[in-house]
Amino acid sequence: MRVDVISIFPEYFAPLDVSLIGKARERGILDIHLHQLRDWARDVHRTVDDTPYGGGPGMVMKPEPWGEAIDAVLAADPAAQPRIIVPTPSGVPFTQKLAMEYAAEPWLLFTPARYEGIDSRVMAEYGARMRVDEVGIGDYVLAGGEVAVLVMVEAVGRLLPGVLGNAHSAVDDSFAPGAMENLLEGPVYTKPPEWRGHEVPEILLSGHHGKIARWRRDEALRRTARNRLELLAALDPETLDKHDRKLLSELGFPA
Ligand code: SAM
Repeated sequence: MRVDVISIFPEYFAPLDVSLIGKARERGILDIHLHQLRDWARDVHRTVDDTPYGGGPGMVMKPEPWGEAIDAVLAADPAAQPRIIVPTPSGVPFTQKLAMEYAAEPWLLFTPARYEGIDSRVMAEYGARMRVDEVGIGDYVLAGGEVAVLVMVEAVGRLLPGVLGNAHSAVDDSFAPGAMENLLEGPVYTKPPEWRGHEVPEILLSGHHGKIARWRRDEALRRTARNRLELLAALDPETLDKHDRKLLSELGFPA
């Protein structure tokens, strides 16, 4: 997968050299290109922001440098088109489902902003020609979109074939479509069996795969009920078996 990022802080992306994503880059699974937005600013101060029309506090990112920078990235492969991802708290929520959708794309272009964001005409211009998604990573406001891009590239990158050591580990993750859709993963344990008086749940030492799977699902349902009621409400009733329904009703949520 090719990933382009245009930012006034390309140095923010040093973590993409580390760990799983760093290895995926070394192995050619992820081909990441970082671009300095100011290279497309035309004045001596390399200005990329200006005062907002309509007044108000803060500055807005000018459309011209963004347009020229995006055009230059698009010119890298005129036969293809990237999916453009504009991080913004006012976008659609970034979810595991969206991460999986992005993982199936051959080319992503991220446009992290600073100040009050990018002049909206940039999104209108490219949105008329290709897929442009405005995406938020959570209900809070960051100082800039770089961290949001790091979050999304890591979530997408670990889903690419060959990146995770064990391809099955993503299947059991919280939110994974299938059995874990709208569920949080329960607690996990490793050796030793007892640590500071805390014991590993006995069932996990039993070697009984069926019972362990059932225990894990119960714990996932319990944790979701405790931490994320809105996910529990979104569970597809069709995916619930008799035991799930009994447990949910014991927890006070009749399915
Ligand atoms: N005034 C904007 C608003 O209230 O929607 C917030 C601008 S924020 C200070 C500057 C930039 O940080 C945004 O344009 C975006 O690129 C990034 N950003 C901040 N919070 C984000 C979030 N939750 N998800 C994705 N990007 C975010």
